[in-house]
Amino acid sequence: MQNVLASIITIGDELLIGQTIDTNSAWLAQQLNSLGILLKYRVAVGDNAADILAAMEHAQGISDVIIITGGLGPTSDDITKPTLCKYFGATLVENKKVLEHITAFFEKRNRQMIASNIAQANVPDNCEVLFNTYGTAPGMLFRKQKKIFISLPGVPLEMKTIMEEFGLAAIANSFETNSIQHLSLSTAGRGESFVAVMLQEFEQNLPENIKLAYLPKLGALTLRLTGVNTSAELLQLQYEKLHQLVKPYCYALQDISLAETILQLFAQKDLTLSTAESCTGGAIANAVTNISGSSAIFKGAIVCYSNFAKIKILGVDEDIIKTYTTYSEETATAMSKQCVAVLDTNYAIAITGQIEKTETIDSFAWIAVSSQSRQKAIKVPLPYAREKNKELAVNLALNFLRVFVLEDLN
Ligand code: ATP
Ligand code: MG
Repeated sequence: MQNVLASIITIGDELLIGQTIDTNSAWLAQQLNSLGILLKYRVAVGDNAADILAAMEHAQGISDVIIITGGLGPTSDDITKPTLCKYFGATLVENKKVLEHITAFFEKRNRQMIASNIAQANVPDNCEVLFNTYGTAPGMLFRKQKKIFISLPGVPLEMKTIMEEFGLAAIANSFETNSIQHLSLSTAGRGESFVAVMLQEFEQNLPENIKLAYLPKLGALTLRLTGVNTSAELLQLQYEKLHQLVKPYCYALQDISLAETILQLFAQKDLTLSTAESCTGGAIANAVTNISGSSAIFKGAIVCYSNFAKIKILGVDEDIIKTYTTYSEETATAMSKQCVAVLDTNYAIAITGQIEKTETIDSFAWIAVSSQSRQKAIKVPLPYAREKNKELAVNLALNFLRVFVLEDLN
């Protein structure tokens, strides 16, 4: 078993001025980790030959796998590829297969090829060409002193596809790496610090080669156990212990969103859902409909941002809002009852609140859920800025619904 280390070099001026967020590195790091390869070094450099060379030299000195992304599109072609040639002592040669692919690519789209497109078929003569299904710039694999270098286009879809189709397998076949196994579970209802205290003893008593990671999301927390060169049975044993400890808050024995869990539960029990959303402006509906299969369960949302819409469209009694105010338990409850009735679903979520903090009012929301026969409401504080509060409110609402439905089912 070797300890294989990797470096990631991302190339592009846009990365340095903050125009593009380097999502490539995060994805690559995860993929390499799941092969048992640890990251030693990550760096972003501009479209500049000297900086690229310096980064490659440094990376070669400290790691075995060096992944480079960016700088291969038709525009900045004149920097990265010549730099690779210089580094690996190569000259550019036209690759027939790549040229055919590029030609077909342009024909299919009815677009004119220009010289810089044709130049993308030129590759260093000592690399292994990694075919780019979704774009024109191919990936390139070099071997030097038992180390692997892979240069990829910066476009995330192209980069990922090339790695999945060729790169990861080439790396896995070149090294005997550690075996890494993950087991995750998802929780909601308690924050990271609360759970960390609960799991303190468990974490301290974990075997040397099993680690616990906290992966917090807004309103949810994923816990992941990672075993390095451990048996599946031993990892499973610790996972079961972990599950027992967090059972009241665990909503899935995998890393999935609350919306996915709700849909799975509703699909199993043949239930339907609707939402009446004021302060979330349809964000709950959005979260639910992002998941495939939602159409069998989700019947619709009434985005009643104004009192006018709450009264005229949803049919909430005007007196309730007048008597108890818009942001109240009574209004939220009436909204959820109306939603169940108007959209004729088994369950409805309603939410009304102050999403953005003002000088006089802290942000909060009233969440109510309703079935055909009962309602329940909760007031939740929303401590962040506007957009984060929305995301948090979505998960708090979905979790409130989940617990409510489980009460009915038990
Ligand atoms: P450009 O002139 O647009 O930079 P290029 O010839 O340099 O083109 P690439 O750098 O291979 O081509 O890819 C460009 C595209 O990929 C850009 O839209 C860029 O924002 C995106 N991209 C580049 N690097 C990354 C990265 N590390 N993470 C996410 N996206 C990236
Ligand atoms: Mg670029």
